[in-house]
Amino acid sequence: MAYDVIVVGSGPGGYVAAIRASQLGLKTAIIEKESLGGICLNWGCIPTKALLKSAQVFNDIQHAKDYGIEASGTPDFGAIVKRSRGVADKMSKGVQFLMKKNKIDVIMGFGTLKAKGQVEVKGTDGKTTLVEGKHVILATGGRSRELPALKQDGKKIIGYREAMVLPQQPKSIIVVGSGAIGVEFGYFYNSLGTKVTIVEFLPRVVPVEDEDISKELEKNLKKQGITVMTSSEVTSVDTSGNGVKAKVKTATGEAILEADVLLSAVGVAANIEGIGLETVGVKTDKGKIVVDKFYKTNVDGVYAIGDCVPGQALAHVASKEGIICVENIAFGEKKYKHQPEALDYGNVPGCTYCYPEIASVGFTEKQAKEAGYEVKVGKFPLSASGKASAAGHTEGFVKVIFDAKYGEWLGTHMIGYNVTEIIAETVVGRKLETTYHEVLNSIHPHPTISESVKDAIEVAYGEAIHL
Ligand SMILES: Cc1cc2nc3c(=O)[nH]c(=O)nc-3n(C[C@H](O)[C@H](O)[C@H](O)COP(=O)(O)OP(=O)(O)OC[C@H]3O[C@@H](n4cnc5c(N)ncnc54)[C@H](O)[C@@H]3O)c2cc1C
Repeated sequence: MAYDVIVVGSGPGGYVAAIRASQLGLKTAIIEKESLGGICLNWGCIPTKALLKSAQVFNDIQHAKDYGIEASGTPDFGAIVKRSRGVADKMSKGVQFLMKKNKIDVIMGFGTLKAKGQVEVKGTDGKTTLVEGKHVILATGGRSRELPALKQDGKKIIGYREAMVLPQQPKSIIVVGSGAIGVEFGYFYNSLGTKVTIVEFLPRVVPVEDEDISKELEKNLKKQGITVMTSSEVTSVDTSGNGVKAKVKTATGEAILEADVLLSAVGVAANIEGIGLETVGVKTDKGKIVVDKFYKTNVDGVYAIGDCVPGQALAHVASKEGIICVENIAFGEKKYKHQPEALDYGNVPGCTYCYPEIASVGFTEKQAKEAGYEVKVGKFPLSASGKASAAGHTEGFVKVIFDAKYGEWLGTHMIGYNVTEIIAETVVGRKLETTYHEVLNSIHPHPTISESVKDAIEVAYGEAIHL
């Protein structure tokens, strides 16, 4: 075998797995059909955050007077998109550098499993090469999920890729779906002056979050001028005119919405087609590759990680899965001292980067109660935070949930300024099985938003100082 490990797909799952494999002394190749870094670096996490930063800068300029500064400006949509693409390109080149540094062979082309240990790569020139390796990790990621009523034509009914590089700023946009991707794009376009309508099938926005977070976000989105329609479903779209005409079934009847474009943001479909799963007999279920806790498929020597397997479709999840998968392979090859710990999917943080930001981990209040816990809940409004007041961003709150019996930290749910930067405290605290006692006996620096976590815990235990 030419390689110990062949990785198919170079997103945050694949490229991280490849680096870890190389670190552990496994000869590694990575196959990529498009751009190193996958969706995350090229069409997901990074370019969207660059767009959102431009929106925030524009919002700050518009509110500069509040900070004692005279300033004005208008957004240059083309330049904003160009900056975002530049940031993505730089990150992709960074992955190229990391591959070289770690002596990983990069093979550009479409990879297909031909047999156990054999991947055929079809290059852009149509030529095929057979790459052989003992272990093959599939990290082919996902793409925008298409609903039958919302067939994407890439021009009027678009997915996230097109939404990132529209040739000009639309005057109006309908965003279908209010998960992280939907609300981030909704916030971005609304900030630049596009009329935004968000249509959500479920009764609340960001439906996977704690109910209090959904309420607070909806209030803020509406305050920003976004129209939010919950319990509503787009049943058909007419694209025959200049823009789109969407028929929407609402809780009370029917509505017709008109806009320049419609963004379908209804989730991710795994890339599992045409990669040879049937040829070698790899099992799939509900559109994803079936794996065990070390990401082994039912076929010996074939593994899968990231968005193409069940679990949260997040970059940090894909990366951790890649590391666990590879460490377990290395353990089997006697190149790693112990078997890795399986990933706890109940302790994965999730972040949404609109304004106000959302960050959460663990049980929501409802989930904790449904799981049989008697809970202690503390909520600290950022209007009472010195740092939030100094920054002029007092929207939102930090909510913590503890088990009343043993003091176990069950979950944290935050919405507000910079909260995505402080969720890791809860993740580590939960991993260390900390109780409220240890957190309250740890000093949080002042003034920071992070203090609000401690403040919320004080509220839960009736010890609030700042409320
Ligand atoms: C708009 C948007 C914003 C997002 N924001 C965030 C965020 O802020 N935080 C977060 O954690 N997550 C975010 N995500 C999700 C995140 O991007 C994904 O969870 C992550 O990229 C999954 O990583 P992956 O390695 O599984 O696959 P991907 O990143 O999808 O990479 C898969 C790679 O495999 C390649 N490939 C596929 N098939 C083949 C083949 N047969 N041969 C060769 N190459 C192949 C693809 O070209 C691609 O490069 C966002 C997603 C989107 C769409």
